[in-house]
Amino acid sequence: MRSLVFASNNDKKLNEIRPLLPEFKVLSLAEAGIHADLPETTGTIKGNAIQKARYLYQITGFNCFSDDTGLEVNALGGLPGVDTAHYAGPERDAQRNMQKLLNALEGQMNREARFVTVIALVWEGEVFTFEGEVKGSIAYELKGTGGFGYDPVFVPEGYEQSFGELSPAIKQQISHRAEAIKKLIAWFGALKG
Ligand code: IMP
Repeated sequence: MRSLVFASNNDKKLNEIRPLLPEFKVLSLAEAGIHADLPETTGTIKGNAIQKARYLYQITGFNCFSDDTGLEVNALGGLPGVDTAHYAGPERDAQRNMQKLLNALEGQMNREARFVTVIALVWEGEVFTFEGEVKGSIAYELKGTGGFGYDPVFVPEGYEQSFGELSPAIKQQISHRAEAIKKLIAWFGALKG
């Protein structure tokens, strides 16, 4: 079985993706022996995804892929964007991030936002990218406790509940990451012919 390194140690993401790529042994960063932080210095979500995957390919020699996600809020000119993870500070605290976002939108009626995920795959030295998005809006307060990150403040288009209230199964069908993963899997499907 061929190995494919995923630029993450996040068990939720690994558990989501492994059953979808059964023909590969999907290795986490730790399983690939990587314990250092990966570089994320390009200033864009797509650039960072490519940068991480290229770096991993160079140091492991395995085919590999990475994902990078950002939340873009229209009334904030696309912020937090590439700074989504550390919006409220380097400790990457989800509660503080959400609180900062709600404060930034205080009194703002335009709540439109989107999550975007870019997956970058380095396959035999060549880079391929796959993008997924989910449009929605930022709630006026925290709603629900499910999911992770900004889920309690993000209400996907067509729903009244936030990702923190919706079931994981629904999120799995409509999310930004799910869409990018589907495109990656379709690419592998085409490769097999
Ligand atoms: P990462 O690229 O997966 O590390 O995510 C960047 C930032 O977006 C982190 O703050 C995550 O918590 C947040 N994030 C990524 N995916 C989701 C999601 O599906 N729901 C809520 N927040 C997310």
